[in-house]
Amino acid sequence: MLISSEVAARCDMLGGVARTGELIAAGASKHAIAVAVRERMIERVREGVYCLPGTSQASRSALVHGGMVSCISAAEAAGLWVIEHHGTHVAVARQSRLHPHDGCACTVHRPNGPAPLGRRSPVSRALVEILGCLGDEAFFIALESAMRLRKIDAAGLARVRRRMPLGKRSLVDFARGDADSGLESLLRFRLRRYGLDVAAQVDIPGVGRVDFVIGDRLVIEVDGRQNHEGSPRRHRDLERDAVAAGLGFDTLRFDYALVVHDWTTVLGAILAKVDAELHRTQSPVRFL
Ligand SMILES: [Zn+2]
Ligand SMILES: [Zn+2]
Repeated sequence: MLISSEVAARCDMLGGVARTGELIAAGASKHAIAVAVRERMIERVREGVYCLPGTSQASRSALVHGGMVSCISAAEAAGLWVIEHHGTHVAVARQSRLHPHDGCACTVHRPNGPAPLGRRSPVSRALVEILGCLGDEAFFIALESAMRLRKIDAAGLARVRRRMPLGKRSLVDFARGDADSGLESLLRFRLRRYGLDVAAQVDIPGVGRVDFVIGDRLVIEVDGRQNHEGSPRRHRDLERDAVAAGLGFDTLRFDYALVVHDWTTVLGAILAKVDAELHRTQSPVRFL
């Protein structure tokens, strides 16, 4: 017979999630399970399902529903940079009952295949789920993050491609593995349709590496960090911009809030420069 601490150890061995039947099959009595719950060694998520105390909120939501963490929630749990979203995305097998819960804000996927309790979609599967659920932009950003963090290899990429509609596969070809932040991915994705010559991660001698150069003289910097007036970083940024200006570059600098929540303003600023041909070095005017 298992004592209560062994019940927790068994739950851990089972991947941090256990059904009553699995614990009893391992030699736990109902009493030992109840004691383990009372002593907070394990938690009862719902009737007959237990998890370890450190289980994430996303995993708990999936457990309550009787499925697995999927889509953007799985990508986030894997450490990828993902767009803002609400609630947990869970997958519950098509033939399984969907257990409801109070205050549910989950997005429930109903895959044809299995959705084992307590698991998480692997990154390649999560990416395909994101594409179908949240669209191209959310997919592209998570994909570039996965590539940069080496959470997906060539075989995984090929798997993702195969499972994508033909017309969407160019998104994979357009993705690169050196995007410095999700904001950069977002900006490149959103500028793609304007046919601009956008180079990412460009080394400018004397300035350093800038996020983007449009044409040959418009520098775009996207700050993923907090920039405070008077902070050393702000000083460095201003210095960088000044050095770049001295070399003939024009710099536009945006932050997270602008790119994500006020894209119209960002796009307007970039296109105004482009429309005025300020992204290209002008040929010197010759007076004869
Ligand atoms: Zn829910
Ligand atoms: Zn989803």
